Amino acid sequence: MNKTLRQTVIAGNWKMNKTPSEARDLLDGVKKLCGKTKWCDVVVCVPYLDIPLAVRTLKDCRVSVGAQNMHQEASGAFTGEISAEMLRDAGVKYVIIGHSERRQYFGETDALVAKKITRALDCDLRPIICVGETLEQRDMGITLEIVGAQVKAALTAVPEDKARRVIFAYEPVWAIGTGRVATSEQAAEVCGHIRSIVRKQYGARIARGVTVQYGGSMNAENARELLSQADIDGGLIGGASLKPEPFAAIVDASNQ
Ligand code: PEP
Repeated sequence: MNKTLRQTVIAGNWKMNKTPSEARDLLDGVKKLCGKTKWCDVVVCVPYLDIPLAVRTLKDCRVSVGAQNMHQEASGAFTGEISAEMLRDAGVKYVIIGHSERRQYFGETDALVAKKITRALDCDLRPIICVGETLEQRDMGITLEIVGAQVKAALTAVPEDKARRVIFAYEPVWAIGTGRVATSEQAAEVCGHIRSIVRKQYGARIARGVTVQYGGSMNAENARELLSQADIDGGLIGGASLKPEPFAAIVDASNQ
């Protein structure tokens, strides 16, 4: 599988960390260490309130700004919510959709995730769609089935002409924030499975071009091995994105 046909994307997910005052140093550090990166796309998915500062700080460099969630409707009586239009207007280019923490703590279903994907694509945001199994599901031997069903549900929202804009992040739930990383064989198997589903739906040409990331306790030490796998085109990084140096080390590790 020829990796040059698709973009490697290294995205940081800050989660609910960093006030705007605290974000300044981290953004400056990421800009200094990753701002000229040419071999991959670097993204920081920051809390909503940090978006204006992130967009201003990173405007003259190669790091893009992402959000961690959005509402599925364009506007209206949805107190406390943020729309894709608002994100786009603020300078955001990527948005994480269906992170397992949102599925687990906020009840997001495959159907809701599909609606959000449609809206994101309509607003020219690139969705980073998270899929992954729990430890119980892995132990039951149904990982490919679970992830496959999540991917198929997500793709119902994606017309063929927009399929290349979608990014999948395979994130085993048991590896997120736990320090327990999937082996490169486990990660490669599931990322390959995701691509095979894309192939069945849209054909080989589109499948070759779709970015499939791994996420789950990726760090400066394990990134090179994971990112050397043929079907793994980048990473979604939580904990290791909260300091510039480990995040930049992962960006460097993707240059292979
Ligand atoms: C994540 O939040 O998507 C994630 C992968 O977190 P961590 O890297 O901390 O496991």
